[in-house]
Amino acid sequence: MSESLLGLSRLALAQRLESWGYKTVHAKPIWQHIHRDGRSDVAAIPGLPAGLAHRVQEELPVVWPTIALETRSSDGFTRKFLLTLADGRQVETVLMRYDGRVTACVSTQAGCAMGCIFCATGQMGFARHLSTAEIVGQVLAVSIGDHERTKHHAPSTEHQHPAQSTQHPARNVVLMGMGEPLHNYAAVMAATEILADTAGFGLSPRRITLSTVGVVPGIRRLAAERRPISLAVSLHAATQAGRLALLPPAAKAWPLDELMDACCEYSAALDRHIFFEWTLIAGENDRPDDAHALGRLLSTQRAHVNLIPLNPTDGYAGAPTAPKAARVFQDVLTTYGIPSTVRQRRGIDIASGCGQLAARS
Ligand code: SF4
Repeated sequence: MSESLLGLSRLALAQRLESWGYKTVHAKPIWQHIHRDGRSDVAAIPGLPAGLAHRVQEELPVVWPTIALETRSSDGFTRKFLLTLADGRQVETVLMRYDGRVTACVSTQAGCAMGCIFCATGQMGFARHLSTAEIVGQVLAVSIGDHERTKHHAPSTEHQHPAQSTQHPARNVVLMGMGEPLHNYAAVMAATEILADTAGFGLSPRRITLSTVGVVPGIRRLAAERRPISLAVSLHAATQAGRLALLPPAAKAWPLDELMDACCEYSAALDRHIFFEWTLIAGENDRPDDAHALGRLLSTQRAHVNLIPLNPTDGYAGAPTAPKAARVFQDVLTTYGIPSTVRQRRGIDIASGCGQLAARS
């Protein structure tokens, strides 16, 4: 697979130009052209030395994922994209527009090795890691106003950026699509740095949320490196036995007590809270006793709990918790002083909810 300019940091681009014998000052206009203006026609950048645009296009082509299919939810708030990567592998990416906020839910792997039993991605198994360019490319591709741009390479919209469209670009990115981001650490971190570069797409790092099933070494590394992004940890059960039942490989590899220790380290190092995700499954983990166990478990954490009624998948027969039981669960957490939110279920009609993403290629 050829290298794509989308996967290079601005500094790396400057170093590459220098190695070719060009001045590093040319990196910034090229970078802005791609990441701020959303254009891929490097030859159109004014003032570049003769031969440089050609060399960039030859050796660092801007490879956008192609949108093979777009589906829209009936309520109009959610759009799901099936994206084809350069090797033909496909992943899904979701764009949500709620309350004036635009959020892109991005995949970090094709498939997933973590095997959470209620998750469609886990049910399909692991295919490969996504590259930095493929992660960045998802955000740019689905943020763009007119998706025909990548679908048919239509000249009229080929170089349009989200900011120039009638819609708005994603200002929030959640790494909660297909895959476990901390299993693909280096590529994911490089992508967050590129997306946060203020000379380009300019996302606030705090508006990038990484969701992990509990990869303890990765959480410790985030803390040690003082990564400024937000962290969400998928718990789903408050005991080791409960996690072994729902998330067998991850719970076996990283026991609950080690996970909680790593979360404490993270909060202390970065002076911030963690979002703890809890998929509410009727009769499985949604009883008041489960809420009390969660309340006790999080008593030493700086926590906000997101409660997500289960979304259906073909490979798991569980049912979502009813709204009344979800409120009772939330009330119990309140008695422990733990703030929580019951997530609204949106995009379920197009299978774009949490745990529903899958692409079989
Ligand atoms: S929930 Fe996340 S970590 Fe678990 S199998 Fe699905 S994609 Fe992987």
